[in-house]
Amino acid sequence: AKAQGKNRVHVFAPALQEQILATARLLADLRVAQQRDELRLFYQPVVGTARELRGYEALIRWQHPDKGMVSPVEFIPLAEQSGLILSIGHWVLRQACLQLADWRHDPARAGLTVAVNVSARQMRDAGFVEQVKAVLDETGANPGLLRLELTESMFHADLEETVGKMHALRTLGVRFSLDDFGTGYSSLSYLRRLPLYQLKIDRSFVTHVDTDSHDAAIARTILALAATLGLRVVAEGVETPAQFAFLAQLGCDAFQGYLFGKPALTPLFWTSTEHDA
Ligand code: C2E
Ligand code: CA
Ligand code: CA
Ligand code: CA
Repeated sequence: AKAQGKNRVHVFAPALQEQILATARLLADLRVAQQRDELRLFYQPVVGTARELRGYEALIRWQHPDKGMVSPVEFIPLAEQSGLILSIGHWVLRQACLQLADWRHDPARAGLTVAVNVSARQMRDAGFVEQVKAVLDETGANPGLLRLELTESMFHADLEETVGKMHALRTLGVRFSLDDFGTGYSSLSYLRRLPLYQLKIDRSFVTHVDTDSHDAAIARTILALAATLGLRVVAEGVETPAQFAFLAQLGCDAFQGYLFGKPALTPLFWTSTEHDA
């Protein structure tokens, strides 16, 4: 057993070292990714009950010179730990607002919303409210069409401060979604105090919503809670017509998922009549 234990060290130590080195290299590359113009913002459609296009969620990708398109799951945590998320988040916000401003005078697209993911590190930053205001002013985007997606974990610390910032941004017209709802710890008392516009049902509850009574009960509870609090609900990760029909019948009013469109560099676009056919 002792020999085996020793062996294990020999086998795993280089692998661990390799992993640490790979992470360090990725971080070094990420530090220059912005200057090298390697970040891309993809857009995934958000639709209403008649599949009509309502807007998009902006999702970042990294066009790495050797690795190809890198998922945010791989580099956002690194960006958060290193503080790089502050400049990356600023870039995302600015790109999204430039897109909104670009559509402002196009009658077919003028009402479409864009949702941006905000990390806890950004929300904690003392300059965040001013930054959003400056980007809105600079780009000329309609603040009422900008959605900021926050997660439950953000409210564990600094609740007062976060709520204060949310109110300041609400005054500008910006609306908030609570992302991945149901996966974190939420208490009704704090939920009531947040100036939210909508909840997003996490994909983990949507996947089996039409076949698993437990997931169906969770979806039903989130929708009832949202109704009580006067909030809208978006279901994420909708992949099948059955999931869509089930959630719509429960009263969900907005949907996002591969059934309607995957995230794309050029935002997918259709008019309701086109898609009704
Ligand atoms: P999220 O906010 O929960 O975003 C939804 C994720 O689900 C996206 O993955 C999207 O591509 C994926 N998705 C959407 N519909 C479906 C579907 O029908 N089926 C399946 N299997 N997946 C679906 P993505 O783009 O890889 O993003 C992962 C996470 O990275 C996001 O999760 C978000 O937390 C984070 N992220 C993405 N962009 C940004 C950003 O600009 N800033 C920050 N701070 N985080 C970001
Ligand atoms: Ca999101
Ligand atoms: Ca989400
Ligand atoms: Ca999710």
